[in-house]
Order: sequence, then C-alpha cells, then structure tokens
Amino acid sequence: MSAEHRLSPVALCRSPYRQKFAIPRQPNLVPAAIGRLDLQGECNRGEILRGLEQFSHLWLIFSFHQNLEQGWKPTVRPPRLGGNARLGVFASRATFRPNGLGLSVVRLHRIGQQGKQHFVEVSGIDLLDGTPIYDIKPYIPYSDAHPDAEGGYAQAAPTAMALVIAPEAEAQLAEAERHQPGFTELARQVLAQDPRPAYQDAEPGRVYGVQLYDWDLRWQVRDGVNHLCAVVPV
Ligand code: SAM
Repeated sequence: MSAEHRLSPVALCRSPYRQKFAIPRQPNLVPAAIGRLDLQGECNRGEILRGLEQFSHLWLIFSFHQNLEQGWKPTVRPPRLGGNARLGVFASRATFRPNGLGLSVVRLHRIGQQGKQHFVEVSGIDLLDGTPIYDIKPYIPYSDAHPDAEGGYAQAAPTAMALVIAPEAEAQLAEAERHQPGFTELARQVLAQDPRPAYQDAEPGRVYGVQLYDWDLRWQVRDGVNHLCAVVPV
C-alpha cells in the first residue's frame, strides 16, 4: 500500500471576503478582489518563489475549509440551473466535494516580503479570508488555455447588474476608499455579480448586507437594479 498523502497548507489567503456570502462563484469575475498569500512554515522562504514572477497567472489549489464539517454529497443542484436540476458533484464546481478542494486561476500582482513574511499578491480571487492554500502553480497558456472549450451549462459569464449609489452611501464609500484604496471598485464589482442567494424566492425590499474588509455593504434590489444604501464600518 502506498504511503498516506498528508497535506499541510503552503500559504494562507488574506482576502477582502470575510463571509462566504457575496463571494463570486468563480475567479476573475471580480478583478478588484486582491488577496495576499502568506507563505507558511517551511514554505515561508524567498527561493520557493524564484522564477514565479515570469508568469501572469497562477493556479491555486485550496481547501473549502469552512464547509469541510458539513461533508459532501454525490449530487448537487448548481445555482446556474436555478436549483432545479441535480447533477453529479464532478460535473460542478460545488464546494461540498469528496476532498473539499478548490481550484482557481488568479492573476499574479507581485511577490513581496514584510519582515519575515514572504507573500504573493494575486487578484480576481474567489476565496474566503483565511483559506488554506495547498499548492501554487504557474498557469501555462499553451497547455491550459482552450478558447474552443465547451462550457456546458456554464458557457457564458453571468451578466452584470446595474448599480445605483444613494447619496449618503457615496460619502461613506469615499470614507471607506480613504482607508482601503480600491474599495469602491471592489464594492461595485461585487454588487454587479448580484450576490443574492440563487434560488431562494426573491424577497422584495429586503436589505442584504455583507462584509468586505472591515466594512459592511448594505443594498437592496429594486426593479432588477442594485441600490447601495450604506457602507458602515464593522
Ligand atoms: N474556483 C473554485 C473552484 O472551482 O474550485 C471555487 C468555486 S466555488 C463555486 C466558489 C465559492 O466557494 C465562493 O462563492 C465561496 O462562497 C466559496 N468559498 C470560497 N472560499 C471558501 C472556503 N475557504 N471555504 C468554504 N467555501 C469557500
């Protein structure tokens, strides 16, 4: 019998997403989402990243760590299909999987060091804050890119939703931007994804809230348009 394959995280992802709710369903839908991969343990050394700067994109293999306790199911109901059809978990990118592993392509921003901490900054992430990363690999376009690929029930990117910002929220957004440069664009891109639960009855007038960095966004959907009502420090 072969030896058991034991994994320990090579990095932890610091992310603006502090809750699973409102994280985009795939990477690169919110390019303004910047994450920092802090290398861990024996992997926290500069030479482990040597040459990585030559690549524009990276593959991340990570754990859906917040869902592990709930186990997995052989079939799932993809939100794309309105929750009406059951498909095999291997025909989906669902988080409840036999080994609880996620896979995302992200853009490489920069490689850096702060004190003893080596890190890799990436953008377009769809990962929760604190997500353990099990491997980092360069994206190799000649092999990994397939412009003629069939996307099955997920062929096209979701359409972006319009956003109206209330005057009070404009001022609060400016304040958040002062503390966290790039916050406004991040908030816009997150809300454009229509982060409401996919197949629950829309509750007219409901105010939704989600934390990004240390700020709570509060918004409402009226006539198919997002209305940002408030941006409140947590
Ligand atoms: N791109 C990855 C993949 O295909 O394996 C992830 C796709 S999965 C559908 C994306 C969702 O995973 C996000 O919307 C978020 O709710 C959830 N998620 C992200 N990080 C997570 C974590 N650490 N634990 C549990 N769920 C997480």
